[in-house]
Amino acid sequence: MQAEAKVRIGLEVHCQLTALRTKLFCACSSDYRSSEPNEKVCPVCFGLPGTLPVLNAKAVEYAAMIALALDCSVAGRSLFYRKNYFYPDLPKGFQISQYDKAGGVPLASSGHLEVEGKAVRITRIQLEEDPGKLTYEGTIDRSSHSLVDYNRAGIALVEIVTEPDLEDARGAKMFLEKLRSLIESLGVSDGELDGAMRCDANISLAGGARVEVKNISSFKEVEKALNYEILRQRTFSGAASSETRHWDERRSITIAMRSKEEEQDYRYFPEPDLPPILLGAAAVDGVRRSMPEVADSKAARFAREYGLSPQLARELAANKALSAFFEECARLHTGYQEMAGLSVSELSAEDVTGERAVAPADYVELVKMVESDAITRAQAKEALREATRTGRPAREVVRSKNLSAVADEGAIAAVIERVAAARPGSLEEAARDKKAFSFFVGQVLKEEPKAQPAIVARLLASRLRAKKT
Ligand SMILES: [Zn+2]
Repeated sequence: MQAEAKVRIGLEVHCQLTALRTKLFCACSSDYRSSEPNEKVCPVCFGLPGTLPVLNAKAVEYAAMIALALDCSVAGRSLFYRKNYFYPDLPKGFQISQYDKAGGVPLASSGHLEVEGKAVRITRIQLEEDPGKLTYEGTIDRSSHSLVDYNRAGIALVEIVTEPDLEDARGAKMFLEKLRSLIESLGVSDGELDGAMRCDANISLAGGARVEVKNISSFKEVEKALNYEILRQRTFSGAASSETRHWDERRSITIAMRSKEEEQDYRYFPEPDLPPILLGAAAVDGVRRSMPEVADSKAARFAREYGLSPQLARELAANKALSAFFEECARLHTGYQEMAGLSVSELSAEDVTGERAVAPADYVELVKMVESDAITRAQAKEALREATRTGRPAREVVRSKNLSAVADEGAIAAVIERVAAARPGSLEEAARDKKAFSFFVGQVLKEEPKAQPAIVARLLASRLRAKKT
């Protein structure tokens, strides 16, 4: 059998800076999702004669944050370029963007994002304006007409371009999820909003042409679209000509749109209406200092400061609300591992921020009960579930449900004898075999769910030693 040709995938991610209140070059509101079509527009959006774009400084700051979080170097002087093409979603006939050739310098370049221990190189990051939005009656290739809404035209977009370092659809999806969570933790964009993060993908099989798949509207669709396209190119060898294809979400297929534009088709040239973006070392340092901590460095700090295992630190750091909750608890108590473990396994963001949120002090008391063997971990979980469901303090749930570990060793010893009597030979087996030992402990816990597993194990072990002598 012939070895399958190697797949190379590069991504172009477009991320709206949804935390901005206005568009990139005018004062129009950027909250277009709740508006009627073509309500949030002005002469600047349309590039009407006599208007001039004015750059939104906050957008530059946010884009620089993304660049720094991806370890890119930020250009001290970058330029806006006009990308010319004629399409109904573009009222001006050109898009104000950035460019990395013909004298163009994008905002940032040469970064990377690590996914499962492998670095995916970031080629460049640039700032540009979103085009308007076209909607079709039916599907794009069969619709008799399209409708256009310019509310989105001029919204600030950050384009993130990767090298073709990804090798399959799953890896691409993981990269995108990590990127989204990184950008969300910076507080510059809410990736959950419809259309806030979109993605185009370049896919090529070794020896084949590069195909670009456009309009993948959500990350959920990315894996499907890539798998479809890889299969299509494998099945029809020679089918891949250099072209742009559209991902049709409804039918879950890619369809040919047009043969791919060459770069010269866009007639890029410097935007004469905007000065260069100047970001000196001091400005970049200022942005760096104002950045919130991102998940990766937070996880490293949790492992370092609190001695959490790397896995637990990562899981905790990935949830912004939970990690804030954990740090509040860590000021009250030092049982870090138990506090982190229990919150990661039992609590959601809603449980610590919502209306019936668990209070840190209450949670810490619960953890202390587990540590002192007053209640079992299973009972603590039960109390937390009840507390987050009803809004009652967990300590009160423990009291009212009379939750307590059976610390009375005499009572546990009696249960051990009962289990031994019910299963002749089981003590001998437990003495010989680790599995049988665990099974025996399990039987005792079944009879007495309030017993602490560790105490049962200790009592059983001493019972076995006594038997030998
Ligand atoms: Zn406007």
